[in-house]
Amino acid sequence: MHPNNRYTGPHDFHDLAKYVPKLASFFTTTPDGRNSLDFTSSEAVRLLNKSLLVRDYGLQHWDIPKGNLCPGVPGRLDYIHALNDLLQDDTNKARTQDAKRVKEHRTFGLDIGTGASLIYPILGLKEYGWLMVGTDVDATSLRVATAIAQFNPGLKQGVIVRQQPDPEAIFRNAILPNEYFDFTMCNPPFFASAEAATAAAQIKWDKLGVKTGPAPTLNFGGQANELWTAGGEPAFLRRMILESTEVYRQVGWFTTLVSKKGYLKIAEQEFKRHRITDTKIIGIGQGGKVRRVLCWRK
Ligand code: SAH
Repeated sequence: MHPNNRYTGPHDFHDLAKYVPKLASFFTTTPDGRNSLDFTSSEAVRLLNKSLLVRDYGLQHWDIPKGNLCPGVPGRLDYIHALNDLLQDDTNKARTQDAKRVKEHRTFGLDIGTGASLIYPILGLKEYGWLMVGTDVDATSLRVATAIAQFNPGLKQGVIVRQQPDPEAIFRNAILPNEYFDFTMCNPPFFASAEAATAAAQIKWDKLGVKTGPAPTLNFGGQANELWTAGGEPAFLRRMILESTEVYRQVGWFTTLVSKKGYLKIAEQEFKRHRITDTKIIGIGQGGKVRRVLCWRK
């Protein structure tokens, strides 16, 4: 985890339950007597993340429909810190050239596929004061995300939820004429079909040793349509790189999470095809869950 991540230590579940009392009904005890949580329950995972947002980010209204992708806040925060490092690098270089301009500049970020939870805009705004636009194609996600932005203290002024009307488009319609974003970010839909998403859920449940009925769901939640896109993550990645060449003057850094190392090869080919040479890969996460943030600009 990033050294600035506030969740590097273990969670204090008792403390968190003060903010979301229902969390206590999912308490368990580990074999060595420590207080823990029933992580096989998607409801417990949802309440845990809710309690982090309530306690640490002052949210008052954050609820996502059952079955929607529940963000693991600590992991999402790592991407935000990685972006800050990326921007800071540039700022440090620029500072010597034009200190005043740099100081006055507010950072603008665009989150592609923000989901019902609005997680990245919330964290970007609350951790670093970035002004964020979040897009999505899914009607339910848009409705819920809009409500979260509207009804929580401080979010209204810093977060805009924007509908992407064309599921084939990524930056088109998302970036308006005359807008400039210091960065774009994305946690892409990664499965190629609803069936693949279901199969992955089954594997996950098997690993946890939980017997499921005929239609298992991922324990981090996730509606089938949230988690899949035609062609899966590789196709999404290709489209994103292609479309980035149409709006590169309006964006400082394009970035996206890449779930599998092998997909970096695909990105490399696309970069070559579009003559993109300024690229970076930042590793985030820890242990078995290392992920990559791919960054590029033209
Ligand atoms: N950012 C959230 C949700 C990620 S899931 C999180 O990290 O938890 C991926 C999201 O991308 C889904 O909400 C899905 O509806 C959305 N999506 C799929 N295609 C899209 C497109 N072309 N433009 C914007 N969002 C899209």
